[in-house]
Amino acid sequence: MTTKEPAYHLNDIRHYYGDTKVLEIDTLKIEESSITGLIGPNGSGKTTLLKLLAFAVKPTRGIILYKGRPEVPFSPAIRSKVTLLTQKPYLLKRTVFENVAYGLKIRKDKNRLEERVKNALLTVGLDFQKFAPRKWHELSGGEAQRVAMAARLILKPEVLLLDEPIASVDTESAGLIRDASLKARENWGATLVIASHDLQWLYSISDRQLSIFNGNIFSTGMENIITGPFEQGDDKIVVKKLDDGQIITLTAPEKKTGIAVIRKKSISIDLEKQADQSFLNQLSGQIASMLLEKKTGHIMATIYIHDLSFVLRLTPGQISSLDLYPGKKVILKFQSTDVEWI
Ligand code: ADP
Repeated sequence: MTTKEPAYHLNDIRHYYGDTKVLEIDTLKIEESSITGLIGPNGSGKTTLLKLLAFAVKPTRGIILYKGRPEVPFSPAIRSKVTLLTQKPYLLKRTVFENVAYGLKIRKDKNRLEERVKNALLTVGLDFQKFAPRKWHELSGGEAQRVAMAARLILKPEVLLLDEPIASVDTESAGLIRDASLKARENWGATLVIASHDLQWLYSISDRQLSIFNGNIFSTGMENIITGPFEQGDDKIVVKKLDDGQIITLTAPEKKTGIAVIRKKSISIDLEKQADQSFLNQLSGQIASMLLEKKTGHIMATIYIHDLSFVLRLTPGQISSLDLYPGKKVILKFQSTDVEWI
């Protein structure tokens, strides 16, 4: 019996810009037809990783196998299978129709061209009659991003790499980009890797989430991470000081490391602080958004504690008993010992 090769298998990857190492990945597999979410602060290496996966940049060291085979970076063969949608998509200075049809025309594949452009635009929620004749500069940020996405989808790529696809788009476009991504997997088994700062959006679309920090990858799942710097506190405690004066205390890691994971199940939500609980973190924050998880009936809430964002899965009972809604001020509680260091 042969087991299926993953879409990607990265081995011993190191990438440098000049003398600076920006990626260090010992091994990473990405399964075919999976949707992987990439999470990480600015400068952590997400774009660089996506460029490596697109074979648009060659890693300084290491091997990337695509479906079990090494690929030649920049070769037309791989570029037709794998496509990267960059953060600020580049549109040709032509009409929407020309932009979406461009890739097929290059391939001299003009069969039912209009119908295919129409379908691709429909997939991203753009009406053909209205948008096909529009010039590239007559589009909002969200519309331009969706046109760029349609121009990729029409080519039915095996892999779709999306770099912050909803960073500058409206809520409706964010939903349409999510639906179009899911359809790409459903209709032709596309594999997707998506970097986004919007955790809730990313959780609503991806099967697996990877966190990147300083060029290292961690598989944290849908859990909350707190990145350093941490200061050494008293006896076996480290602290993170937020700019708004709040302090998070955590049991110190056994060896030096950078990322603290606080599992969702360890965090409780309340409206008031409890007195005299020295090892209990009680952080004031605000609910940023709430999203119904259709599969479970739970509500995913994103809560900002100053500039940190936490995601919790709440029951309808908690929502009604605490009267929770976006904008509401809340307290998140977890013990210093609830930390796992990775
Ligand atoms: P992210 O997408 O997570 O913001 P990037 O992959 O863009 O991270 O960047 C990772 C690191 O590499 C950053 O420190 C960034 O400044 C640096 N970097 C990115 N591109 C280049 C480049 N072309 N030349 C030099 N340094 C770069």
